[in-house]
Amino acid sequence: MTFSASETRYDSMLYRRCGRSGLQFPAISLGLWHNFGGVDNLESSRELLLRSFDLGITHFDLANNYGPPPGSAEETFGRVFNADLRSYRDELVISNKAGYRMWPGPYGEWGSRKYLVASIDQSLRRMGLEYVDVFYHHRPDPDTPLEETMGALDYIVRSGKALYAGVSNYDADLTAKAASLLRELGTPCLIHQPAYSMFRRWIEPKLLGVLRTEGIGCIAFSPLAQGLLTDKYLAEIPAGSRASKPHGFLRPEHITDDKLAQVRALNDLARRRGQSLAQMAIAWVLRHPEMTSALVGASSVAQVKDNLKALENLSFTAEELKCIDEIIGS
Ligand code: NDP
Repeated sequence: MTFSASETRYDSMLYRRCGRSGLQFPAISLGLWHNFGGVDNLESSRELLLRSFDLGITHFDLANNYGPPPGSAEETFGRVFNADLRSYRDELVISNKAGYRMWPGPYGEWGSRKYLVASIDQSLRRMGLEYVDVFYHHRPDPDTPLEETMGALDYIVRSGKALYAGVSNYDADLTAKAASLLRELGTPCLIHQPAYSMFRRWIEPKLLGVLRTEGIGCIAFSPLAQGLLTDKYLAEIPAGSRASKPHGFLRPEHITDDKLAQVRALNDLARRRGQSLAQMAIAWVLRHPEMTSALVGASSVAQVKDNLKALENLSFTAEELKCIDEIIGS
C-alpha cells in the first residue's frame, strides 16, 4: 500500500536549532546502527522508519558500515526510502558517515580523501539518494593530516553529495582544529556526534564548551547506553534484546552487578519523576542548551513512542541532578 504520512506529524515534536546554523533537528532522532541490517526483518525496519516519521522524527542517522553486514542498513533504508519516502525527501534530514573499515586494502577505512570520496559515492548508491544532508567523518584518523580529511569534507559538500559537514568521536582539541580548518575552507562544521549518556560523560569538561564557542550543534549517540539505561535488563537479559544477539555491540559482560545497582537506583528516581528510565535518560542528555538532539536506537515502534514521551518533562531540579550524580558516582 502507498505510504501517506500522518497529517499530525509536526504536532508534538520539538525542533531545536543546530548550533548557529539554519538547520533544525528533532529533539529525538533515530539511528540505524542496529535493527536495520540484512539480518533484521525488513518489514519491522520499514515500520520503524515510517511510524517515526509520522511522529515528527525527521532525522535518520546512518553510516557506511551499519548492518550487519556492513552497508546493509543503507540498503534497507534505500528500499524504504524509494518505496515510501521519496516524495518526502525535503522533509528529511539524512546523515551518513565514513571512518570505519568498509572494504579491504589501505583505502577502505580512516580519513583519506581517497576513502571518504569513494565511500560517500558508494553510500549514495546503496541508499538511492542524490545527496545526504549531513556527512560526518566517523572517527579521528591518527595518521592522515587533518587538512586532508577536512578538505575531503569540504569537497563532498561543494560537489553536492552532502549539504553539511560534521565530525564524530573527535575530542575537544581536535574539534576546535577541525572547526577552524572547515571555516577557512568556507564549509562550517555543522554538528558533532559524540557518545553521551549518564554512563559516558566525557563531553562535559571541555567538548561542550568548544561546541558552544564555535557555534557547532551536538547530537548525542547511545543516550540509553545501548539499552542499559532502561528497565529492560533489571531482571534478566531478555530474548531478542541487543545483549542477547551475537552481533549486538552490548555484551552480557557489560551488564555487571554494579551497573545494575545504578540502573535500579536511577529507575526509582525516574519513577518519582513520573517517567520511565529511558525517558529520564533522554531528558538528561537534552538538558544542555548545546544539545541539538538525542540520537536513539529502537527495535520497536512501541520503544519510539515511549521515548518520545521524554519531551513531556525535560526539566530537572537541582536536587534530582545531584541525586543522579551521586548514583553514577561523579
Ligand atoms: P541507544 O542508547 O538509544 O540504544 C538503543 C537500544 O535501546 C534499542 O535498540 C533498544 O534495545 C533499547 N531501547 C530503546 N528504547 C527503549 C525503551 N523505550 N525501552 C527499552 N529499551 C529501549 O542508542 P544506540 O546505541 O542504538 O545508538 C543510537 C544511534 O547512534 C545509532 O543507531 C547510530 O545512528 C548512532 N551511533 C553512532 C556512533 C558513532 O560512532 N558516531 C556509535 C554508535 C551509535 P533492544 O534492541 O535490545 O530492544
